[in-house]
Amino acid sequence: MQYICYVLITYWALEDKGVFSVKSYYRSIRGEQTNVEGGFWKQLWGLKLPGKIINLVWRACRNVLPVASELIKKYVNIDLLCPQCHLRPETPVHVLFMCSFAKELWCKVGLQDVIQVDESATILQILGQAFRKCSREKQVMLSLLCWSIWYRRNVCVWDKKFLSMFGVQSMAMQLLQDWRRSQEELGTRMQRGSNENVTHLCRPPEGWVKVNVDAACRDQLGFIGMGCVARDHMGRFMRARCATMRGGMPPREAEAWSLRAALLWMDEGMEASKVYF
Ligand SMILES: [Zn+2]
Repeated sequence: MQYICYVLITYWALEDKGVFSVKSYYRSIRGEQTNVEGGFWKQLWGLKLPGKIINLVWRACRNVLPVASELIKKYVNIDLLCPQCHLRPETPVHVLFMCSFAKELWCKVGLQDVIQVDESATILQILGQAFRKCSREKQVMLSLLCWSIWYRRNVCVWDKKFLSMFGVQSMAMQLLQDWRRSQEELGTRMQRGSNENVTHLCRPPEGWVKVNVDAACRDQLGFIGMGCVARDHMGRFMRARCATMRGGMPPREAEAWSLRAALLWMDEGMEASKVYF
């Protein structure tokens, strides 16, 4: 009975705006979202930025970044101290806003005044407040730099390297510039309805077999992956093969190796008189 009353009360509470949805009700009982938060999420997902940056900010706000303080709660046996400054516990707020590198970067780009940090604040509160004070362009910069700071932290943890302030800043700006350029190009192509640079797979003539070949280089793991697929003149699948080879080489050479492997394979068993590559 108590539960039913609670549902009805919540229902009426949501109804006074004239809108009731399962989503709003779910968020209400989880205590997840106020109108202010809702505005923040909308602004965040509407930013013109690469998806990986928005995703990082979203994960930070949801408090799911794998920092030491969170990993220790899950019984991972690691050092609690920040791997960059070794002075304070590594929490999400510390990494993104309070670590010496982060503080310096926020000052350098002139965003230190919109970021109000205290020990008890969450990332969602800090960014939510900052977003309310910022223009769209500054919101973009805030998110971009959060991603860059997190990138630097990961390079420090995994590669034991400390990227410089200049390096991090220029990498971030280059990333943004490249992404914007690619979006513009995409927009222009779509406007023109142009098919340039688009490769269409087409069927081979009757009696021929078409073989598509590709290679992937995994330098860090020290091997090359190769694969090919054969189809007949109707586009029907005939055979496929993949293989790995130890060693490293430039992509162009790997492609050539892949083509050679496919040729040998065709020579071994394919009965068609003519083969397309
Ligand atoms: Zn630190």
